[in-house]
Amino acid sequence: MVESKKAETDKMSIEDIPGVGEATAEKLRDSGYDDVMAIAVAAPKDLSEITGIGEGAIIKIIAAARKLADVGNYETGEEILNRRKNVLKLTTGSKNLDNLLGGGLETQTITEFFGEFGSGKTQIMHQIAVNATTSESDGGFNSDVLIIDTENTFRPERIVQMSRAKNLDSDEVLKRIHVARAFNSHHQILLAEKASQMAKDFNIRLLIVDSLTSHFRSEYMGRGSLSERQQLLNRHMHDLLRFGMLQNAVIAVTNQVAARPDVFFGDPTAPIGGNIVGHTATFRIYLRKGKAGKRIARLIDSPYLPEGETVIQLSEEGILDGI
Ligand code: ADP
Ligand code: MG
Repeated sequence: MVESKKAETDKMSIEDIPGVGEATAEKLRDSGYDDVMAIAVAAPKDLSEITGIGEGAIIKIIAAARKLADVGNYETGEEILNRRKNVLKLTTGSKNLDNLLGGGLETQTITEFFGEFGSGKTQIMHQIAVNATTSESDGGFNSDVLIIDTENTFRPERIVQMSRAKNLDSDEVLKRIHVARAFNSHHQILLAEKASQMAKDFNIRLLIVDSLTSHFRSEYMGRGSLSERQQLLNRHMHDLLRFGMLQNAVIAVTNQVAARPDVFFGDPTAPIGGNIVGHTATFRIYLRKGKAGKRIARLIDSPYLPEGETVIQLSEEGILDGI
């Protein structure tokens, strides 16, 4: 349903929304909102802030866009099942980890990898970026990839190594991976909003945020700013999820475990962001260090898969099975 509805709404222009004239359309476009579906699923307050259009007018525009795009209604179980039929799965490079995830990373869903420094989160992000560019028969999407890099840890050299290990032309792979360095949390939020513009020019089936929480964590320290941080994170997560739904893309994010239980949520192994991140990410994988490049991956709180653990191996060639 997402795919067919997307095709329909792609043909509409935002001027087709009743009440949107030339001036309003220009403001919406300037803010990056140039398709009906994106407006239909936007939050009034955010859209009003971003475009400078009054909240009253925005509420009417969103309602009209929803009617036009036919979103926000009840769906039958059959419709939801049909949408689920469009879900694609991306290989992680490790059969063990793929099996733990029920076949790989799912599109239309956020998957979170969390663990301490050096647990292999960034290695996995590099590997799935390479994998997404490969053909479907190799467990990929034959697609381009967006990476929002907040810690300056993207290394093209690793992409080259991992590509060579799979006998891929590393130059071709690098051309399909689009990396944006996010300088602070606001910039990060903006880059996620801009992702849909990139998707007009490229076939994007994988969006990576590495790391989801580092800027939020350092900018919003202490209890006083916790609720503001959680609100922004919540909005950001929903922007990401919306991109995944509209583009039928995998969303993969990384998260650190809190090292300061006094500031965060008590449990020293708890991922940052608490309930907000936990409720929006459908799959959460906790990575622990083992010996000699081995890492234990544990699936936590899946809606329909059993909890379980497996072992992966970090290597020069990338992510491999650990046993
Ligand atoms: P995180 O993002 O969770 O902080 P990383 O993904 O950066 O952690 O993982 C770093 C680890 O990845 C290193 O400790 C090392 O074990 C492994 N690693 C990184 N590069 C290579 C490589 N070229 N060959 C083998 N292992 C590597
Ligand atoms: Mg990292």
